[in-house]
Amino acid sequence: MDFVSRYIIGMPSQISHILHGLSCLKALPVERQESLSDGAFMLGCQGPDIFYHNQRTRPSGLVYGTRLHRSGWGKFCAELARQGLRLGWTQEHPGYRFLAGWSLHAFLDRELHPFVVWNAGWSEPSDPATHSLARAHAFFERLLDVLFYQTLTHENLFHCPWMAELAEVESFPEDFWVAMAQSLWRTYPGPYGLDEIPQRVRNAITDTVGFLRHTDPRDETAARDAALSDRADAGLHKRLPRIAFFHPVILPPADYLNRQHTPWRHPVTGKERTESAEDLWQSATLQGQESIRCLANLWQAPAEEREKLLNTWESVLGNGSLNLPGEDGSPHGPQFCHPLDFAHLMELQRRYFLKD
Ligand SMILES: [Zn+2]
Repeated sequence: MDFVSRYIIGMPSQISHILHGLSCLKALPVERQESLSDGAFMLGCQGPDIFYHNQRTRPSGLVYGTRLHRSGWGKFCAELARQGLRLGWTQEHPGYRFLAGWSLHAFLDRELHPFVVWNAGWSEPSDPATHSLARAHAFFERLLDVLFYQTLTHENLFHCPWMAELAEVESFPEDFWVAMAQSLWRTYPGPYGLDEIPQRVRNAITDTVGFLRHTDPRDETAARDAALSDRADAGLHKRLPRIAFFHPVILPPADYLNRQHTPWRHPVTGKERTESAEDLWQSATLQGQESIRCLANLWQAPAEEREKLLNTWESVLGNGSLNLPGEDGSPHGPQFCHPLDFAHLMELQRRYFLKD
């Protein structure tokens, strides 16, 4: 099996999470923004998606991707902060910068996932009518990457250097793995022993950086290979298009961001919504800004005030699902969607890369 076809789980997209993280940092003084926004921060912005990316190197931490997205988010982040403080991390420590980015991930996931699922639908192996939607979720999030990046930076995503700048396993000192392992073990007791977790986190980061570099929007090589492999599969009834993991180069004009405020529905509750993707972004940014201020205060507070501030921060972060929270924050399966024509959108990308 080649590199891309191993990826079976839809993965929220990388650039939007970094853009969102950087927007949230604007709540801090300029000098703090600059010292925080490095490769450890950008990797941290990927949040628990790093575990979804861990499908290549064993032993894997994949199970933590599901657990962190399902419940206990605030509890985990507060525990990681508690561990960092205990280990004496300063705000210059790569673990702190990773935590700062990491803690912002959930706000964008929670706000955008209903919009993404409404537009991308989902595929069920037992229902052939939905097979054209396989990986549509991942592809639509890459589509949002392209549009958000253009809107926010006024630059073309295909020049974005961030994937080459991500921190790697070697960027983190030993106490980072200790803190991650302790926090996962305390928040999600059960799947693995404390001593085997550090390697699983290392493997998740290795695979994440490997995958994100492989699909770096500045390099067309892998996208072209994916288009070729998809073509070779045509007629073989394979369901999983590789091209879905690459940012779309060609987009027919459409109101993908719902700037017209056309009504759509929450995929779980069916409730009518009219927000644009940018409205949801804005809401996620305001929440993230409040959270990053809490984190900065926590690090400056005297030791005796820390527990109280950790509790406050946990409630700002919330413990509800990051996927499709219902009214009560608990995770639910979707029922409503109105997907775009993904078979056509993906075929357009293949035609571009294969020049036919
Ligand atoms: Zn996520």
